[in-house]
Amino acid sequence: MNDPKVIKILGAGPSGLTTAINLAQNDYKVIIYEKNPDVGMRFHGDFQGLENWSSKEDVLTSVKNMSLAVNFYHKPFYSGYFYSLSSSAHVESTEPMFYLIQRGKGAGTLDYSLKAQAIKLGVSIIFNTSLDYADVDIIATGPKRINMMAFGITFVTNLKDIAMVILDNDISPKGYAYLLVSDKKATLATVLFEQFKLGGKYLEKAIEKFKQISELDIINAKKFAGYGGFFLSKSAIREKKIYAGEAAGFQDFLFGFGIRYAITSGYLAAKSIIENVDYNALWRSKFYHQMKTSLSNRAFYELFGNTIYDYLMERTRKSKDPRGL
Ligand SMILES: Cc1cc2nc3c(=O)[nH]c(=O)nc-3n(C[C@H](O)[C@H](O)[C@H](O)COP(=O)(O)OP(=O)(O)OC[C@H]3O[C@@H](n4cnc5c(N)ncnc54)[C@H](O)[C@@H]3O)c2cc1C
Repeated sequence: MNDPKVIKILGAGPSGLTTAINLAQNDYKVIIYEKNPDVGMRFHGDFQGLENWSSKEDVLTSVKNMSLAVNFYHKPFYSGYFYSLSSSAHVESTEPMFYLIQRGKGAGTLDYSLKAQAIKLGVSIIFNTSLDYADVDIIATGPKRINMMAFGITFVTNLKDIAMVILDNDISPKGYAYLLVSDKKATLATVLFEQFKLGGKYLEKAIEKFKQISELDIINAKKFAGYGGFFLSKSAIREKKIYAGEAAGFQDFLFGFGIRYAITSGYLAAKSIIENVDYNALWRSKFYHQMKTSLSNRAFYELFGNTIYDYLMERTRKSKDPRGL
């Protein structure tokens, strides 16, 4: 008979590592099987945003409440510049709109921080190994399908810290482009929800546009690409296996801010085992409604295209609290 105190997890991303950390803190023996030679290999040292708008509680407090140490690089951003085809908005917030973090291999990344926390608690991570779904308890393997793709560059720059977003279907069909700068390092990318084969062309257009609207200089650029996938299902348990993170379809349908979903669902997966409660009930009450809303938002976003981007600029300009918007 399988030992109920031994839990096997497939995938060492934020969702799988969060589950492992929480289980290990509760005296479970945890083994993670990761197909790559290290964590974070889906990413490239690029900056991402840990969004701070989907709850009243600060996201870093939530992360700590899910038993994770916040010892990864994180910088609060209180303002941002938004551009559409014919409009623009500068927003400022009294609370951080998001925390800029780094993904991939290397000191300070979210992935390396979670890996170190897990190993310190005795979690075994077996790299270069994958098992059949039937042989594990939790599946945390990331996106199963490709709904969106990002094409970008990381580089060094002389620009000051800044966050800029462009909403323009001629640069990012049904998506958006972003420029994030922190401590002279930068990430610029265009996120597409269609026309993936033209990613290189759209990236060039995005770079040109950011050069027009800022003093952008690009030193030592390195290209990267990535993808994300989402779907809405009422159950994240299949064949008695618990699914967490993007493997369960947990994502923000509108813009692809999936890190918070990954960490939260990883935490809830562990909680369901420790307290012997229904995982589906836990995640549904926490964020099913929020996912449905993001699905509707995406439908509007795609239907009205550049028109809704201008409208969003206007709303953003008038909004006293951009996080609420
Ligand atoms: C370019 C880009 C930019 C993004 N920007 C943001 C952002 O700014 N903010 C935000 O919130 N989100 C962002 N996201 C989304 C976010 O990164 C993901 O939602 C998040 O990493 C999902 O975590 P996860 O644990 O579910 O999956 P993953 O991070 O994908 O981890 C899954 C792990 O499982 C491993 N694995 C896969 N298959 C197997 C297998 N069969 N056997 C063993 N191991 C396996 C993988 O190698 C990987 O290590 C971005 C995504 C991309 C691609």
